[in-house]
Amino acid sequence: MTWLDALADKAIDLVPPTREEALAVLGSSDDDLMDVVAAAFRVRRRFFGRRVKLNYLVNIKSGLCPEDCFYCSQRVGSGADVLKYSWLKTDEVLASAEAGVAGGARRVCLVASGRGPTDKDIDRVASTISAFKSRNPDVEVCACLGLLSDGQAERLADAGTTAYNHNLNTSGGHYADICTTHEYADRVSTVESAKSAGLSPCSGLIAGMGETDEDLVDVAFALRELSPDSVPVNFLIPFDGTPLAGEWTLTPQRCLRILAMVRFVCPSAEVRLAGGREIHLRTLQPLALHVVNSIFLGDYLTSEGQPGAADLAMIADAGFTVEGADTEALLAAAAAASASAAAGADDAADAAGPASGGRPDLVHVRRRGAGTTIPANT
Ligand code: SF4
Repeated sequence: MTWLDALADKAIDLVPPTREEALAVLGSSDDDLMDVVAAAFRVRRRFFGRRVKLNYLVNIKSGLCPEDCFYCSQRVGSGADVLKYSWLKTDEVLASAEAGVAGGARRVCLVASGRGPTDKDIDRVASTISAFKSRNPDVEVCACLGLLSDGQAERLADAGTTAYNHNLNTSGGHYADICTTHEYADRVSTVESAKSAGLSPCSGLIAGMGETDEDLVDVAFALRELSPDSVPVNFLIPFDGTPLAGEWTLTPQRCLRILAMVRFVCPSAEVRLAGGREIHLRTLQPLALHVVNSIFLGDYLTSEGQPGAADLAMIADAGFTVEGADTEALLAAAAAASASAAAGADDAADAAGPASGGRPDLVHVRRRGAGTTIPANT
């Protein structure tokens, strides 16, 4: 038995790796990459079979944030040319969210820029969520509105919200290097508030922000302590106009090792491959499906993902199925969708290329879906 077999056995028994084992996964060589993925796949298959959960992001308030998170295109003073708009109306949110549901998403994630909501903001979002749930009772709703004040999580839960997302993003030791306007402890406390209110906790990380392997292991273990039901793993999208522009340190192989490490640390959690997957994993995206059991469909908050049809084709081609949906029917519907989606798919395929010096050409600011009159990418 190899050390990776032993690690997978422990994870299947819900026993965490040691820090040294987690660091060894991150430090493993490319020669061992397929063994790392295979060991993580055993764990993924034990808890989630070959299912892939689709989630759909709706940016319900975009840009103009007073916080200074260095990785964020919506931060104060951001020079990134992203869409900027205040709260979308309920019918606009429903239109975007239901486009995601039609594309196969079983969770919609309603995300607003800002430090945190006012009580009036909570009223607005709660009303929108109630309206969505009355029309889509079987679809999960995750809210992501920033730092929560007393009583706000309870009000979201009362409105029918399933989950609350607030990422730790990086280790406590690295946090001051990526944000100065709030603290790591603020983030931990918001996740705890959401849990206490009965919301399903969703909290993850962003890799590629200048952190060390130790930072990645620290944040993974900190997340394990919080017992999140879902763990989004983002890879930095280094937008021009943000302090982390030009920070292209990730390779597809490193992304796979990071995902595997998180899988071993949080074996039974929904590990979600989130922002940055297309630009950093590139042609190795399908391999990541052997480690994660959840992805976002289509676009991200301020950048475009690959066409939803390409997401579905990738899942089917890799031998996985869309959770809670008929994968073949979704594929057929996607095939019948607009020519613009097909053209976008060609663009994405053409753009995939070798890893050297970063791929800023792959970062496309979102210009469709929520906040625009152009149909959503689902
Ligand atoms: S991550 Fe959130 S709080 Fe930070 S700058 Fe972006 S929108 Fe604001």
